[in-house]
Amino acid sequence: MTALLYLENAYLKEMEATIIEVGKEIDGQQRWLLVLDKTIFYPRGGGQATDQGFLFTDTWKGKVGQVLLKEGKILHYMEGDQPPPAGTLVKGTLDWNRRYLNMRLHSAGHVVDFALYLLGYSPSPLMPFKGEHEKKPVIYYQGTIEKDFQEELEKKANELVAQDLPFSFRLVDTQELERETIYLQPGLPTNKPLRLLTLKGVGSVADGGTQVKSTSEVGHISILPIEQKDGVTLVRYRIN
Ligand SMILES: [Zn+2]
Repeated sequence: MTALLYLENAYLKEMEATIIEVGKEIDGQQRWLLVLDKTIFYPRGGGQATDQGFLFTDTWKGKVGQVLLKEGKILHYMEGDQPPPAGTLVKGTLDWNRRYLNMRLHSAGHVVDFALYLLGYSPSPLMPFKGEHEKKPVIYYQGTIEKDFQEELEKKANELVAQDLPFSFRLVDTQELERETIYLQPGLPTNKPLRLLTLKGVGSVADGGTQVKSTSEVGHISILPIEQKDGVTLVRYRIN
């Protein structure tokens, strides 16, 4: 299986890897699919957008347009000429500007969520169940409260940014995850090690995406007007 270099070090921008499988997708536009022995490319998931970039050898270059996790495989969807066969060593480079923005957006979502926890609104009465950290970032919470907390949330989130608190990770089993986290979102796999994300001095949650090293890298966070309807609260945020 593919070693997930982006989980060990989210700041890797280049790699060398060996092709272990070459496939072809025919429907729609023709795209090549590559599976590698290791990768720095984050597959779309957990609300974080796909990475893009290039894979190449001395005689071939392909654009990585999209990366998806399907049936346990990380598939690099390639545009361009036919890739070399399995066994070939290739080099890879990330579109770093895109990835770094995605990392900041994703970490910003966690800062907002931790701020809501510190304010005492989450995980009860507001229980997070979904986050989107792409062009229009939003976190969905089950539950509503009779209160407009836009301003106090923005203040608290930016306090965390100003404190420059480090994020850290470790792989843990389900029992430890249950013990250490401030909440567990539904639907987590129970048969494999999971990653515990900790914001120093604040708390821990389960997480599999890429993150910046500390809150100051996120920069200023703006909270948009809070929407509460049909038992669900939407917290939209932006970064500069
Ligand atoms: Zn996350």
